[in-house]
Amino acid sequence: MSKSARKKEVLQSVRGMHDILPEDQMYWTRAYETYKEVASYYNFQHIDTPLVEERALFERSNDQSEMVQKEMYLVSTGKNKQPMALRPEGTAGVARAYIEHGMKKWPHPVKLAYYGPFFRHDKPQLGRYRQFFQAGFEIFSSTIDPIYDAQSILASYRFIEALKIKGVSIHINTIGTPKCRQAYLQKLKAFFKSNGKKLTADQKKQTDENPLRLLDSKEKNIEEMRSEAPNILDHLDGDSKDHFMEVLEYLEDLSLPYTLDHTLVRGLDYYSHTVFEFVLDRKEGEEGLNLALGGGGRYDYLVELLGGRATPAVGSAPGVSRIVDVMKRRQLVTAKRPQKRVFLIHIGELPKKKSLTIIEDLRRANVAVTEALGKASLGAQLKSADKEGSAIALIFGQKEAYENSIIIRDMKTGAQETVPLDKVAKVVKKRM
Ligand code: AMP
Repeated sequence: MSKSARKKEVLQSVRGMHDILPEDQMYWTRAYETYKEVASYYNFQHIDTPLVEERALFERSNDQSEMVQKEMYLVSTGKNKQPMALRPEGTAGVARAYIEHGMKKWPHPVKLAYYGPFFRHDKPQLGRYRQFFQAGFEIFSSTIDPIYDAQSILASYRFIEALKIKGVSIHINTIGTPKCRQAYLQKLKAFFKSNGKKLTADQKKQTDENPLRLLDSKEKNIEEMRSEAPNILDHLDGDSKDHFMEVLEYLEDLSLPYTLDHTLVRGLDYYSHTVFEFVLDRKEGEEGLNLALGGGGRYDYLVELLGGRATPAVGSAPGVSRIVDVMKRRQLVTAKRPQKRVFLIHIGELPKKKSLTIIEDLRRANVAVTEALGKASLGAQLKSADKEGSAIALIFGQKEAYENSIIIRDMKTGAQETVPLDKVAKVVKKRM
């Protein structure tokens, strides 16, 4: 491409990453405010971690996952080409911060919540973006206690529910401890090997490397054989069984709708015991919305894996971008009636010069103002005031600028009254 042709090329946002336009902000504002409310109610303290972390943080915590192996945005920078990555998920960063800031010494449980953008080089489609928002509710505790699994699930469930999304259930499973999982993995491998003829070359490779992930695959051939696959519940040790039963009892006490799903393993390596996803019951016409609205699980080994002292922990993460998709599809937020605003019209150079100061005086007096400072003629500005639907226009001309007054015009009747500048806020407030 020639230099001049390149100059004219219209640049667009990167594939899979989207602008959030003013018309959609109401959904995002509602989601963020609801997150704040839920986090605060259940005593989670908000934490922000950087968007960029050392690549090793994600590699160490989730080495086998597709997310780390295939979807990370890698960044190398500085003299030493330090390997870094855009964060693909939130838990590893929060666990790093827990260690780095000595939170082990804080009174436990330490409950941390986050909200922000994450990055994965995923295949873009509705509900799958390369930059997307997640919230998260993480609990670090001194013992492995199922009550925290329930509380983290509860926070995410209440977040989704408070956004008025109906028909969400919790798909839940346990993957036990690494120890009791070993025997199960052998059985699972043997099962897939005995079905070797029905597997693709990739799936055969996965049978050896990560049979749990294969069990979770959405491919048709796997779905067909899944009901025959060995069930993890038959391979749990006593503690893992008790832990899982207690989590379910808490969910029942809270009347949270859950479904047992023994094929749910989730894509991240660091989980143990409980894993879960929030799944939407779709209505007619919502075919594109068949992805989980959130997920999470227990990760008792992550802090140790990152160099800290062993710390039991559990977390849940609502996928805010997908949740907003549903809110938009179902029109779950209506626009707030805009605040009533007056329209400031200037006529002439001196009034224009004083306009910004007048707006500041009105701002201090709590009067909302709209203007069209770039327009000069009275007619054009009145037209803009009409378009805005302003009930009152303030007309500031040469004479008024010298006399420190302003004309208040009723846009409906056309009636006008001149008042001193220092009285204008009071009069306007009375009329609105
Ligand atoms: P994960 O970190 O994979 O457990 O994801 C937790 C939640 O984040 C998912 O259930 C989704 O709702 C959301 N999520 C994950 N990946 C994406 C993506 N590429 N685009 C939009 N949302 C996502």
